[in-house]
Amino acid sequence: MSREGYAEGALVGVLTPEPLDRILDYRAPEGGVREGAFVEVPLGPRRVLGVVWGAGRGDWDPAKVRAVNRVLDAPPMREELREFLTRAGAYTLTPMSMMLRLATRAPGLFDPPSMRKLYALGDREPERMTEARKNVLAVLEEFGGARFSLKELAEHAGVSSGVVKGLVTQGAVREIEAPRDVPYPALDSARPGKPLSADQEAAAARLVEAVRTGRYSTTLLKGVTGSGKTEVYLEAVAACLAQGRQALVLLPEIALTAEFLTRVEARFGARPAEWHSGATGAERRRLWRMVAEGGASLVVGARSALFLPFRDLGLVVVDEEHDTSYKQEDGVAYHARDMAVLRASIAGASVVLASATPALETWANAEAGKYARLDLPARFGAAELPEMHAIDMRAEDLPGTEWISPTLRRQVQARIGKGEQSLLFLNRRGYAPVTICRACGHQVGCPHCDARMVEHRFQKRLVCHQCGETAPVPEACPDCGEAGKMAAVGPGVERLAEEAARVFEGARIAVLSSDLFGSARALKARIEEIAQGGADIVIGTQLVAKGHNFPLLTLVGAIDADLGLQGSDLRAAERTFQLMRQVSGRAGRAEAKGLALLQTFQPEHRVIRAILTGQEEAFWAAEAAEREATAMPPYGRLAGIIISAPAPAPAFDLGSHLARADAALRRVGAVVYGPAPAPIARIRGRHRVRMLVKAPKGAPIQAAITDWLSGLKLPNGVRLAVDIDPQSFY
Ligand code: ADP
Ligand code: ZN
Repeated sequence: MSREGYAEGALVGVLTPEPLDRILDYRAPEGGVREGAFVEVPLGPRRVLGVVWGAGRGDWDPAKVRAVNRVLDAPPMREELREFLTRAGAYTLTPMSMMLRLATRAPGLFDPPSMRKLYALGDREPERMTEARKNVLAVLEEFGGARFSLKELAEHAGVSSGVVKGLVTQGAVREIEAPRDVPYPALDSARPGKPLSADQEAAAARLVEAVRTGRYSTTLLKGVTGSGKTEVYLEAVAACLAQGRQALVLLPEIALTAEFLTRVEARFGARPAEWHSGATGAERRRLWRMVAEGGASLVVGARSALFLPFRDLGLVVVDEEHDTSYKQEDGVAYHARDMAVLRASIAGASVVLASATPALETWANAEAGKYARLDLPARFGAAELPEMHAIDMRAEDLPGTEWISPTLRRQVQARIGKGEQSLLFLNRRGYAPVTICRACGHQVGCPHCDARMVEHRFQKRLVCHQCGETAPVPEACPDCGEAGKMAAVGPGVERLAEEAARVFEGARIAVLSSDLFGSARALKARIEEIAQGGADIVIGTQLVAKGHNFPLLTLVGAIDADLGLQGSDLRAAERTFQLMRQVSGRAGRAEAKGLALLQTFQPEHRVIRAILTGQEEAFWAAEAAEREATAMPPYGRLAGIIISAPAPAPAFDLGSHLARADAALRRVGAVVYGPAPAPIARIRGRHRVRMLVKAPKGAPIQAAITDWLSGLKLPNGVRLAVDIDPQSFY
């Protein structure tokens, strides 16, 4: 047996995804077992998956130690990934069982390699068409190719497997024998990319150099929207592939992927492997195995792709690195950007963080010399950055129930005739954020959450944006019973669309809001159609702020530039700055120059001024100075503690107890604030209490919190979650 091997009968420690607080001892099976091997072990009456994590601890009655059932047929987990899981778990204070779950998120991973039946469209019409049959054929048409197993196809179509089998008998659906997992088409890294501008060339050369060292490094690639960041980092991808190593590109959102996949195909001659929640189980299993075996060289994915078993990861690109969706808040609370840096530092890989408006943390790390920084200050080719102005809403003549100012109206009108597009941006889904009774003032709230119900007129329902609860719009007030008095207050994108239809008669209006599309595919199709000129006015939420190209768009109107500045969120200024700069960047990407207009009631506000003048470095420096003065991140450390319970009292009691027993925190110079009701004090019927731990930069906050919470017994029904480096405080 080699150094990491264990001979039959030797004690091994096995980590399982079961919620146990320890690694269990087992005896190595016949033939021995390697460190990292995936195994099946007995646990009580069950058999569960596990990974051989190292030598057994030997602190278990030797007579009771059971043997590993069998070694599973899967590439063993590499030491690099085991170390990453361990360190990421320690950083985020996540039990190792949950970390292992993150790394094995593909069904059927350990089934033996074999052939299996996949289903595709046949060449005959069914004798008799039923609703159920139609559904099956529609799914096959939409997804093409032989991609589904019987179970998956039936599930997707919402029918029983008998329906599919019936269609097979009739020749309307074909059954195909296919190997379970095959390598992805090879990418050709030697194909030349687009000729680069001098700036792009210089930046690409630096990234390529970093990749070629084969050592860890992180580089911030900061470039205005349209400067060609993607073209530049694709050169780093090419260099990584040329070395025979694997590359991972993280994107914040599925809807963005389509455009990116097309660009990769144009650059390297084939499509990369895709990892996201919309993928079928079969696709995920194939990708997981191929990544481990080297049959996938480039993965494009959502944040959880960081936990894939790469054989030799050489590059991680985090595109739009400031995007808030990189922070996972449910379950394991981790930030994909930080975890990408951690994994790369273990794997000896390069990281590229690409953004037009980096997160303050990233900016500060670059200032401090921890990250390298490359700038692409100009848009590629003839395209220029948009001109930006404020519309002072105090001076506009506009009734309280309308939101498009006369000034903005004239600019939109002028473009409709010229075949140019305008974007009206409002970061609020639905019709109106509040439904109020004009007789008694009652506001309709969610029965399970401390949140108001938002009217969605397209769906003809009120919807809770916290828990998804829906209810019909009440005819009479649920509180005082008066009929016909319920009124919508404030704007959402649907209401804005209504106003636009009235003001711009005959204009083609498209509303882009995540809730209006049944699938990511439908959304992609609509975006494509708009990009081709299928609308005069686009009305959208934050969905449109992200990287989509609309070549005909020359005007962006931000309906409420002040929206994000309300509230006391630590990152309110930063977020508003990023969002407004991003959304403005949608204007004028091709030949025509763009214009961005910000409707604001406070044009003198320092954030609004920074957005308009584009003096970004000054903005970041001021923002950084403010955080430094108050020892807030990244100049101090925070951890959020969220306690929830079916009633308020047990949550508060636990919080008060913890606040008193804070010696472990004080030892490292940390203080704890709270307990206080969370801003959203109830979600899904659970009452929520927050505490905030604040520690000096460099303090061992994780160790202190572990110490603080050790031995804590949670009363029945009470839950406690820790969020290291919290991004939101709801
Ligand atoms: P960013 O990622 O910075 O927003 P992109 O890489 O998406 O910028 O580039 C913006 C547009 O300019 C894209 O349509 C891209 O194809 C084009 N472009 C950028 N650089 C080049 C280049 N060197 N040659 C040709 N087209 C380019
Ligand atoms: Zn709710």
